[in-house]
Amino acid sequence: MKASIILVGTELLSGGTVDTNSIFMAEELNKYGIEIKYKLTAKDTIEDILEALDFARKHSDLIITSGGLGPTIDDITKDAVAMFLNKKIVVDDEDLAIMKKKFEDRQVKYTPNNIKQVEKPEGAVSIQNQVGMCPAVYVDGIVCFPGVPSEVYDMFPRFLKWYSEEKKLLVDEIYIRDLLVYGIGESHLDQMISGFFTEEGIDYEFLVKDFGIIIRLQGKNSNKNIVEKIAEKIYNIIGANIFGEGEDRLENLVIEKLKKNNLTLSVAESCTGGMLSAKIVGVSGASEIYKEGLTTYSNEAKVKRLGVKQETLDKYGAVSEETAREMVQGLTTDVAISTTGIAGPLGGTEEKPVGLVYMGIRVKDKIIVEKKVFVGTRNKIRERATLQSLFYLNKMLKGMY
Ligand code: AMP
Ligand code: MG
Repeated sequence: MKASIILVGTELLSGGTVDTNSIFMAEELNKYGIEIKYKLTAKDTIEDILEALDFARKHSDLIITSGGLGPTIDDITKDAVAMFLNKKIVVDDEDLAIMKKKFEDRQVKYTPNNIKQVEKPEGAVSIQNQVGMCPAVYVDGIVCFPGVPSEVYDMFPRFLKWYSEEKKLLVDEIYIRDLLVYGIGESHLDQMISGFFTEEGIDYEFLVKDFGIIIRLQGKNSNKNIVEKIAEKIYNIIGANIFGEGEDRLENLVIEKLKKNNLTLSVAESCTGGMLSAKIVGVSGASEIYKEGLTTYSNEAKVKRLGVKQETLDKYGAVSEETAREMVQGLTTDVAISTTGIAGPLGGTEEKPVGLVYMGIRVKDKIIVEKKVFVGTRNKIRERATLQSLFYLNKMLKGMY
């Protein structure tokens, strides 16, 4: 089974928007063993979309489009598809009623041009949109999604489930195992594990995410045992860096462990300035263990709020192992994290370069302070320090220190 993706949107070609939808789609298609033959990007013109449809049709069983389903004049994907299939455009009354109800519920004024959003080529099936207004539509091997990523994330998996049942695709034949890695780069990982893949039909790929790298192991269900064996080998060499599998995320794992052990958490942040706190609060149920997050950005705040010694700051500086240590000691809680570093782009010195971050982790009386030099923009450095500190805490809670 082959699919091609057509991304519709002039802004995708002019550089205004980066295509992320097809990345998501590719991962989902992977799970069903559907191969992506081509990805095409077309401007918002009927002609260009028709040309792309024509090309894609020659090479694929399924065509997936994204973009151009909105209510405005440049949203013409469904018109182009109807034209391509020689079908009339009709309004789906059921979809119209659903959309009008959404407008009512959200207390947004419905305008007549919104009706475009529930138009579709005659005979098309709708996939309801639980995030936005516009349903996705499927007809004759072509499925059209809106461009808004959150709406694609909502509808695309549901569409694929329906489609695979409809086409009786043998989903059960595919076995996937996602190992989540933190702290080792992609190329390094590749060198370490590529030797394990000697059997025909067992593949791996790396998916780089903001929460880490996914090593996706994939094979036929009949080869499940071999995939499991390879996973075991990978655990044996980089187990310390595998923080979880599948849908696990560092912040969820940490909070789960704290809950289980009845431990409270507080954080004192300097360079991450609230990011760590935001990550923790982003987990539902965090209130059971999270006490407080202090953004102690200035030296004064570190002294006043956390009891960091002025002497320590004078002698070692705010960005130092000693300060990070005193920061976690200053929090009244079972478990504490501190971050202090130089996010840049200014403020680096030879001795303390941009990207240098100290992270303190305390579990009861046990304290570790780790040092890292991260590379990237100010924000990237802050994000990395946030995740890295959670990674250390997760490791410490696993009893690895
Ligand atoms: P549209 O459905 O074409 O009106 O697009 C709605 C929004 O989604 C616009 O802000 C686009 O910039 C964005 N968008 C469209 N296509 C993509 C894509 N392939 N990846 C990420 N965002 C997109
Ligand atoms: Mg558009």
